[in-house]
Amino acid sequence: MSQYVLAVDQGTTSTRAIIFDRAGTIVSVGQKEHEQIFPRAGWVEHNPAEITVNTRDVIGQALAKANLNIGDLAAVGITNQRETVVVWDRHTGEPVYNAIVWQDTRTQPIVERLGALGGGAERYKAKVGLPLATYFSGPKVTWILENVEGAREKAENGDLLFGNMDTWTLWNLTGGVNGGVHITDVTNASRTMLMDLDTLAWDEEIAAEMRIPLSMLPEIRSSSEVYGAGGPGGVLKGVPIAGILGDQQAATFGQICYEIGTAKNTYGTGNFMLLNTGEEKVASENGLLTTVCYKLGDAAPIYALEGSIAITGALVQWLRDNLGIIGSAPEIEQLAATVDDNGGAYFVPAFSGLFAPYWRADARGALVGLTRFVDKGHLARAVLEATAFQTREVLDAMNADSGVDLTELKVDGGMVQNELLMQFQADILDVPVVRPQVAETTALGAAYAAGLAVGYWDGLDDLRVNWAEDKRWEPKLDAGERERTYRTWKKAVTKTFDWVD
Ligand code: ADP
Repeated sequence: MSQYVLAVDQGTTSTRAIIFDRAGTIVSVGQKEHEQIFPRAGWVEHNPAEITVNTRDVIGQALAKANLNIGDLAAVGITNQRETVVVWDRHTGEPVYNAIVWQDTRTQPIVERLGALGGGAERYKAKVGLPLATYFSGPKVTWILENVEGAREKAENGDLLFGNMDTWTLWNLTGGVNGGVHITDVTNASRTMLMDLDTLAWDEEIAAEMRIPLSMLPEIRSSSEVYGAGGPGGVLKGVPIAGILGDQQAATFGQICYEIGTAKNTYGTGNFMLLNTGEEKVASENGLLTTVCYKLGDAAPIYALEGSIAITGALVQWLRDNLGIIGSAPEIEQLAATVDDNGGAYFVPAFSGLFAPYWRADARGALVGLTRFVDKGHLARAVLEATAFQTREVLDAMNADSGVDLTELKVDGGMVQNELLMQFQADILDVPVVRPQVAETTALGAAYAAGLAVGYWDGLDDLRVNWAEDKRWEPKLDAGERERTYRTWKKAVTKTFDWVD
């Protein structure tokens, strides 16, 4: 009897393979970072071939560290940075262009062109749950077909395939040009702007408007079923690949948000809060996205409301890499602890415009409230507080859309190791913030989806018992100060508007 499940987490900054046991405990981890390519302001790319090699390597690393071989794996799940686009030649397996990353803003003119057909940013919202924005996959595919020489013709001939990173990873792991399967799951498909949220099928009208041939699109399947097996000669030869969830949906699943009204917030490169709305698809009036949360085999799809924030942990990286004020991300906590408050400084990191709840492509970053008093400690604090304030804006929108006030927030992701941030988050939300013992909830969610499909776990109750609290932060700040500082933040946000024409 195989005793473990492996999850591949193809993230924005790195690719990880994590092996879990039945209790949902981490047995071993393999991890490798990949290059972030910034060819121009606003453009962000990855090399898909590098990621394929890294995926193979980290699976090998994880197995070797645990002294296991593939015979010990009951199933493999995949989770991934969402919306990032790869277009490749189905005959050679070669990408026709680098992967265009979710944060990339080059599709702004395409997005505007589509909006001008009528309806503006809301053009497809009723069908796909998303506003027209550079964030989503569809227009990125259009950009490749319009800008890479020969791509349009090859696509029309049926020679090119499109995939998000889940599809690219699955295709390669299942054999690539030698029989790789071309499949995505409903959660990833719900981020393309091409899938109808009710039918869970590609919408031919939208694809036609974006001039994307249907032959490029992967088959849409549930999040938990056997899609195929590791290809012959590959690192996962014969092992069933049985779960796919976009990273934020995977974290929601790993955080056991199975009841209507449960939510989690992940603090990584950006922040993503998802609220389970059950079988009901809730349309947002407050700048949130409607998305598929998960679909287990033949069961009905479960939907979510999502608040996506483009830049949170990435601002900490920026402080480290672009300003050199800190040597590593965790050092920001010590620096922030050298001062009592932000000294009046507010940092709005609208580097890729602003996502939820504003969806302002014209916004750019601003550091405001500066006086000669402000030092690097205040700056460190303003950077951390930016994450917490942006989260408050999303939580306010969630409460308004759902009509129910969240009573606590489950958190995960790289930034939740930062205790100063977690306390400030509780203070500014005025609800307790709760961190689980397994912080790798993204990989865990993908492992759960795969394990359920092959009967490694019997059902959701098997998963519920695995969740355990690690730490809880209670709100301490008095109401007057909380609302004063939040009001000032809101004013700072307005300073970022109308920056780009
Ligand atoms: P992703 O999955 O998006 O690559 P992770 O969940 O691995 O991200 O989190 C990494 C992010 O968290 C980075 O942007 C990094 O700057 C930030 N980060 C990591 N540790 C800390 C810390 N102790 N304090 C603040 N930010 C941190």
